[in-house]
Amino acid sequence: MVEKAVSDSQALLFVLSGPSGVGKDTILSELLKTDLKIRKCVTYTTRSPRPTEIDGVDYKFITLEEFNRLKEEGAFLEWAEVGGNFYATPKDFVEEKLKNGEDVILKIDVQGAMRVKELFPNAILIFIAPPSLEELRQRMEKRGTPPEEIERRLKIAEREMDMAKHYQFLIVNNELLETVEKVYRIIKEAQNKRDAGRESAAK
Ligand code: 5GP
Repeated sequence: MVEKAVSDSQALLFVLSGPSGVGKDTILSELLKTDLKIRKCVTYTTRSPRPTEIDGVDYKFITLEEFNRLKEEGAFLEWAEVGGNFYATPKDFVEEKLKNGEDVILKIDVQGAMRVKELFPNAILIFIAPPSLEELRQRMEKRGTPPEEIERRLKIAEREMDMAKHYQFLIVNNELLETVEKVYRIIKEAQNKRDAGRESAAK
């Protein structure tokens, strides 16, 4: 059974969530530049790529038809609709990596995170919050997000912030490098703890 193989491998599953514009992508890309041994899971989306985004690197960009077909085939670990677009985590990737003992990090929304928590009760959930909603508004304005889109995303952000209580860790992103350092430490400590447990079991 996959579940048994995954738990035997003792690989760790981390989830990073937070409102749009909070800096999750930058935090994750900075984390991946460090010495952390962790695999990022590239997820599916039906939304169009942003100018800087690369298919297969940032997301697997697919049509709604492909999304529905993959959903039917049971290819998703979880899926969610966020702001009118569909997103999903590939089941095979996560299960295979965990089974092989590789730690995985998912950057997904709060609905997906709650589903992952049900499927993997040991998953480590980290929520990144903005210093304030006003700060989030300013960040989106700087990014050139259209005003009506800002209002819509702020409403979603408010609802998402309410879900932060279900996460083990809440980090307020006041300063990027400080936040990266904090997430790094959470991951490293969990890995060290797991490794120490393995060593003492081997003695
Ligand atoms: P964006 O369109 O800004 O890249 O992402 C919108 C939201 O969808 C973000 O909160 C992002 O973390 C989330 N997201 C990305 N991939 C997935 C996924 O596979 N599943 C779920 N549930 N959310 C995702």
